[in-house]
Amino acid sequence: MARYTDASCRQCRRIGEKLFLKGERCYTPRCAIERRKSPPGDRSLKRRRASDWSLQLREKQKVRFSYGVLERQFRNYFETAREHPGVTGDILLQFLERRLDNVVYRLAFAGSRKQGRQLVTHGHFTVNDRKMDIPSYLVETGDVVKWKGSNGKLPEFAKMIMESGGRLPTPGWLKVELDKGEAEVIGEPTSDALDSSIDVRLIVEFYSK
Ligand code: SF4
Repeated sequence: MARYTDASCRQCRRIGEKLFLKGERCYTPRCAIERRKSPPGDRSLKRRRASDWSLQLREKQKVRFSYGVLERQFRNYFETAREHPGVTGDILLQFLERRLDNVVYRLAFAGSRKQGRQLVTHGHFTVNDRKMDIPSYLVETGDVVKWKGSNGKLPEFAKMIMESGGRLPTPGWLKVELDKGEAEVIGEPTSDALDSSIDVRLIVEFYSK
């Protein structure tokens, strides 16, 4: 019998693809999606044809679960993105990418966004030498994100976290000095740095009804 792991893996199974919510485990055969891809509670092998609305909802939920954002906050990002000049979907993803918990994850200072959020909330990071414990803080070009108290030397526990995390290439808009445990935001997340597997058009359609 398949073993219930936890809510994070359940979210992946509901969406039907890996969302990499649990760090190192997501890269191993212990990943719940590798072992059982069917949605939780679905014992039938028959699938109904997905409606346009359900595809839009799925894409929206996929992105929301990936970034660990509540519905109201996600909607606020969308409404703010809609007021900006430019492509609404890309601006929405830029907002999500600029969140401090995501930046910490992208820098491999945490194994997952969830862990990044926890580390930020517990006050382990500074932005421009000021303690910042708000995961939704949106970084700006020129901001310097640093492990708190590192002063050019990485804390031991930080090294352990970084070594156990998943490794993704650092996006071009972040310049990291891993050994010092600090990074500078050198630009905006460009469209080629955004996740190409996300169909933002579906999210825009979902909220435009
Ligand atoms: Fe769980 Fe990670 Fe696999 Fe998702 S990708 S099912 S969070 S282990």
